[in-house]
Amino acid sequence: MAVLISLDIDGTVDVGDPPGPVTMEMARLAVARGHIIGSCSDRPLSTQRKIFAGHGIEVQFAVSKHMLDQVKARFVADTYVHIGDREDLDKRYALKAGFDFLWPEEATAMNWFTR
Ligand SMILES: [Mg+2]
Repeated sequence: MAVLISLDIDGTVDVGDPPGPVTMEMARLAVARGHIIGSCSDRPLSTQRKIFAGHGIEVQFAVSKHMLDQVKARFVADTYVHIGDREDLDKRYALKAGFDFLWPEEATAMNWFTR
């Protein structure tokens, strides 16, 4: 069961500003399990890739929030989920693109992120 996981950065991952509860270790674990991990933030796309690459994660995509629908069209997965900390940006765009949405705190309990 392949899950496509779209990660916001600021307020969501531990290397964001502010830091969030989803750790780079969790992201690496999900990659190792064969899930599709990508970045979806308001930061420049190349910056997004660099942030994850700096922690050993080659993201499969790096997009802005309004581009999530393109991600869904580009990848085949059983489940598409976006994780973010903002109702107006993350939740709104995720649901609009047909993604499931999780708050960062909720996401840390998902089995793709836990040992
Ligand atoms: Mg955020």
